[in-house]
Amino acid sequence: MSLKHKLALVTGSTSGIGLGIAKALAAAGADIVFNGFGPVEQIERLRRETEAAHGVRTEYSAADISKPAEVAAMVAEAGGGQGPDILVNNAGIQHVAAIEDFPAERWDAVIAINLSGAFHAMQAAIPAMRRRGWGRIINIASAHGLVGSAQKSAYVAAKHGIIGLTKVAGLELANSGITANAICPGWVLTPLVEAQLRDRAARNGRELEAEKRAMLAEKQAMAEFSTPEQIGALAVFLCSEAARTITGAPMSIDGGWVAQ
Ligand code: NAD
Repeated sequence: MSLKHKLALVTGSTSGIGLGIAKALAAAGADIVFNGFGPVEQIERLRRETEAAHGVRTEYSAADISKPAEVAAMVAEAGGGQGPDILVNNAGIQHVAAIEDFPAERWDAVIAINLSGAFHAMQAAIPAMRRRGWGRIINIASAHGLVGSAQKSAYVAAKHGIIGLTKVAGLELANSGITANAICPGWVLTPLVEAQLRDRAARNGRELEAEKRAMLAEKQAMAEFSTPEQIGALAVFLCSEAARTITGAPMSIDGGWVAQ
């Protein structure tokens, strides 16, 4: 399948799952708008490597997804003003604390980046998708969009929220040529999870490898991490013609996490 001449904007694509999705979409032929934080030289290298490997065009937006005006400008400026054909709302952060101890400022930041940012990007991107009669919106939710875990109130609330937002978008956009779906990964070993892994290993007095096994066993039936490449392949599938009637759906890729 070719996504040639489609423009894909992937938020939070300088690292982890977003980077895996951006690379997979580029490999399928899509031009890419990268977004996310990181050193300028590293981002420039990423753009050059992606362009050379797949013969696609790339752009970069430094928009902070917690800032609605920056999100709207990023979408409006993508592709010299044409806006994206494929929007992947992936940027996300985590904060781990009990509700009584949860800093209000962290709650606001998690909701702003993991939930409201997706709303603002969708609101800005949908009109041009409607005019073209084709679009793909992919929201990166989580197993935590379907079930809860202690100490993750803001994250679980945001991820449940983004699945609700995806369902509404799927209904509103039905028959417009635009689909909206959510991908719900289980554990993926990215910097976001590595930070939690190190904290847990220190707290439990375990080696990192032992803590990895414990972390997986606690939540998933499968004792292995999903990879950014696998999430990328699912995103490419959701952009395909074969997926044209899949909409409003949360798609689990979680080693059996929510099957239990
Ligand atoms: P990561 O920390 O590796 O990457 C996060 C990306 O988001 C980075 O590019 C970062 O620069 C960007 N980002 C963070 N705040 C931003 C902001 N304010 N504005 C713009 N960009 C910002 O994390 P990851 O694990 O790849 O997570 C990506 C998404 O996948 C998140 O939505 C996360 O909740 C979700 N997810 C991750 C896992 C997992 O196990 N890693 C599981 C389920 C869902």
